[in-house]
Amino acid sequence: MYKCSEDRMADKIKTMSQFGDAGHGGITRYSLSKENLMARAEFKRRMEAIGAKIKTDDMANMYATLEGSDPTLPAIVMASHSDSVRNGGNYDGILGVMGAMEVLETVAEQKIPHKHNLVAMIWTNEEGSLYPPAMMSSGVICNDYLPEEIGKKFKHEDMLASTSVLDKTKTFKEALEASGYKGDVANRLNPKDYKAMFELHIEQGPILEAANNDIGIVTCVLGMINYRIKTFGQSDHAGTTPMPYRKDALYAAAKLLQYLHDELDKLDKALVYTTGEIVCHPNVHTVIPDFVEFSIDARHEDPKVIEQVVEVIKDMPKEIVGCTTGYERAWSRDTVYYDEKLVGYVTEAVNELGYSNQRINSGAGHDAQFVSYMMPTTMIFVPSKDGHSHCEEEFTPVEQCTKGASVLLNAVLKCDAQ
Ligand SMILES: [Zn+2]
Repeated sequence: MYKCSEDRMADKIKTMSQFGDAGHGGITRYSLSKENLMARAEFKRRMEAIGAKIKTDDMANMYATLEGSDPTLPAIVMASHSDSVRNGGNYDGILGVMGAMEVLETVAEQKIPHKHNLVAMIWTNEEGSLYPPAMMSSGVICNDYLPEEIGKKFKHEDMLASTSVLDKTKTFKEALEASGYKGDVANRLNPKDYKAMFELHIEQGPILEAANNDIGIVTCVLGMINYRIKTFGQSDHAGTTPMPYRKDALYAAAKLLQYLHDELDKLDKALVYTTGEIVCHPNVHTVIPDFVEFSIDARHEDPKVIEQVVEVIKDMPKEIVGCTTGYERAWSRDTVYYDEKLVGYVTEAVNELGYSNQRINSGAGHDAQFVSYMMPTTMIFVPSKDGHSHCEEEFTPVEQCTKGASVLLNAVLKCDAQ
């Protein structure tokens, strides 16, 4: 078994954490921003130093290739993203990039023999925090393979036209052109030239830490549904309308949300569901709301449980505190299972290394989930302290980051041997 270097990993974490350092422990590193270009330059510098060849595709995804003994074989790629959310942490995404770099550095330093080309890759704009949507590049690159309902939300032209949330006059296309990293469409990740993709990532939840496990063997990305729940009332003056005369759509929405929680809590305990968005009309403090719409996002591995959620929504009261109710299915996604063979390599690698581990599913979306529609793909998780992510408190000890990289390395070598 080969092991990665904790010192070299610590050095990468320290260096990358400077690019976009917000001054209080975390980073803001939007895709293709000045800070992000610094992280990309560091990736290029370190990868060229070990003899890897750099190329980019038309979405500015970066590929650092370390040639194998038979370069005619399809390559094995390890990928994640280098962008962050606003005031994000030093691990989400970039850990997978640093893990991939660390694997190539270990292979180069220890002269580990391998047949296939090994590639460390950076996905552009995974977070979509400056130019929405999230998982933009993998959505474009894997578009022909995605289910239609998902694929239509990631059409190439629409993505290029995405405007900056900070400056509506700037488009993603302009940022791409200005970045210096826009390359050839022929360089895109594809199932002919690439054999498999691995993504190392932080868990972004509390499960591994609570179980005292160093490694999560990811088996699937949870299926999910997204509904818009609506209540319709009557707008009237806030001061002149006695309470019994009101049809308050917001009060109805509050009652309905409570009802949904009560009913959904009766379903399988692994179900997670969230209302994260609410629209209230006219949203004026002197007017009784006449219309409210809120989101409900529910996730579970088993489609039967998702169906039960749909039944709860269909059976909700049609009228509540004098208001009528309605719902609309926004979108859904089936559970995506990662490649059994690759999951097997990860399992063998982690057990041979003797690291504590468990099987786990992913509740969050990742580029790997889109890639899995195109070619064999899997993920490896390491713990997130207190389950925090997408915030400055995000933390994973360097020992666990390095263990994650070592599992990645040995799983990739098992894939290489086949
Ligand atoms: Zn991420």
